[in-house]
Amino acid sequence: MNEKAKEALNKLLQGNEDFVNGKIISSRRDIKTMQSLKDHQSPFACIVTCSDSRVVPELFFNTGFGDIFVVRCAGAVIGENILESVEYAVDHLNVPLVMVLSHDDCGVMKAAKAMYPKEPEHLQLLIRSVYEIMDSETECYNEIARDYTLTKRRKLLKRSPILRQAHADGKFEIVRAYLNFETGKVTVLDNE
Ligand SMILES: [Zn+2]
Repeated sequence: MNEKAKEALNKLLQGNEDFVNGKIISSRRDIKTMQSLKDHQSPFACIVTCSDSRVVPELFFNTGFGDIFVVRCAGAVIGENILESVEYAVDHLNVPLVMVLSHDDCGVMKAAKAMYPKEPEHLQLLIRSVYEIMDSETECYNEIARDYTLTKRRKLLKRSPILRQAHADGKFEIVRAYLNFETGKVTVLDNE
């Protein structure tokens, strides 16, 4: 992992630790910070995660305005709009780190677990996408959520020539991570 990506990851994990310990609240949440950024932005990381109301990266990473570029949709399933948003973060905003973040108690994973292997009647694109990694042995939907980050990582690189090239050039790194609601902790998963 290059230095910039490492630095960005450390910043996120340190912010998360501060959040968990209730230590510091980012000073970058005031009107002055917003005003200082009125003509530009230069976030240090892109977070791809779920729209779940309990998953608020700016809060549990203890960041403020202009710090992180957050891309969210239910289940954080990688569709075209998500893909282009990440391309924008990497190609235009030059973020050195993309974090694919899943979480406990995800509604999309639960729905997929409950329905598998039936053809889903609702949320078809989201659920079919999760089916790709499931088999009848899969027990726990939190486990599915963790495993699914591998698929997300792979899809970002496979489906976007822009991201593939930038990654091959060492312009950015992708890490997988998981949020636990009980502890508030974000854990980085093995990056195989
Ligand atoms: Zn979710």
